Amino acid sequence: MKITAVEVLVCHARMRNWIFVKVVTDQPGLFGWGEATLEWHTRGVVGAVEDLAELLIGEDPTRVEHLWQMMWRQHFWHGNGVTRSTAIAGIDIALWDIIGKVHNVPCHKLWGGPVRDSIRLYCHLGGGNLESFYETPVENAQQFADLAQQAVADGFTAFKSMAVPPTMPVEGLRPVKAAEACVAAMREAVGDDIDIMVDCHARPSPAMGMKFARALDDYGLYFFEEPCWPESIDSLAAINAAVGTPIATGERMTHLAAFRDLFAARGCEVCQLDITHCGGLTEARRIAALADAYRIALAPHNPQGPVSTAASLEFGFAQPSYIICESVHNDVPWRDDIVSEGFTIDPATRTVTPNTRPGLGIEINEDEVRKHPFEQELPQRVFYQDGSVGDW
Ligand SMILES: [Mg+2]
Repeated sequence: MKITAVEVLVCHARMRNWIFVKVVTDQPGLFGWGEATLEWHTRGVVGAVEDLAELLIGEDPTRVEHLWQMMWRQHFWHGNGVTRSTAIAGIDIALWDIIGKVHNVPCHKLWGGPVRDSIRLYCHLGGGNLESFYETPVENAQQFADLAQQAVADGFTAFKSMAVPPTMPVEGLRPVKAAEACVAAMREAVGDDIDIMVDCHARPSPAMGMKFARALDDYGLYFFEEPCWPESIDSLAAINAAVGTPIATGERMTHLAAFRDLFAARGCEVCQLDITHCGGLTEARRIAALADAYRIALAPHNPQGPVSTAASLEFGFAQPSYIICESVHNDVPWRDDIVSEGFTIDPATRTVTPNTRPGLGIEINEDEVRKHPFEQELPQRVFYQDGSVGDW
């Protein structure tokens, strides 16, 4: 069996261009789907996939680890920059889809079989609608409360909010009090049985991240995400040690050694590896094994498209330390036209039961994808009040 083509299909989904990777073989009807979505870097990733494809044409697609090593180590530069690690991930996910199809089992059965009966999903406030999640102002605590109630009405038992505003490296009480008011309003709106998460998007400096974490510590957040830049592992560790709320991070880390350094410093309690950015399922399984050694939980970052979701769920059904999966259901109204999925979501509880089809269990409707060709992603730029550059 040989790989005959590595194709890329770009599907513009408003905030992101979903980059689907299709690895085609010489066996009639046998191909695999991967995803390499990287917002605002679409052209770069598409080019990186094309560069990697020349290593793969003519190779046996079932030698997944061998091909991963080629993609990572050949071409001299290691594959740890986010553009190339995302391209590698897109191809690697497709290879796992192929090997599942070859053996006629879902991917999670290739990895030892299901370790749980269901996976819990959490949503963004607004379900992935760009404006609701990213542009609800922290001055409007009532809107946070209303969106939180909507998430619960939609069946979710856990949701994530952006209740921490962009802040300069040092600010006074104003942003901290605003964040606290939003979290208090959400807690009041949904009660203690619903899990609330706050994503800081690494907006704060370590000093401000510490202030936010301490101010919100009594609200029982399920986790508190990216309280400072991911490069600041020592500061993540300091914040994680200072509060009872579990700190979450990892979505911007692209290789095993970065996670080694994060875990060794105890920079988090929840590892948010992104399977489409960390080198795919092959590297994600190594990161998960390392996390297990530190008893760090897994909650993959997954705001991208449907192949990312299928891969994140297959992974979760085979990982004991996996606690919850990020999901987006309201980013574009035609999401379900693009994909047919092998797993089942209970709309009353937003829990997933395992895929029963081979591989990732998904079919992508290429005709529907072609209705949404590449467009430049919507700009999301942040400047502080004095005009200096902030983090989105
Ligand atoms: Mg995040």
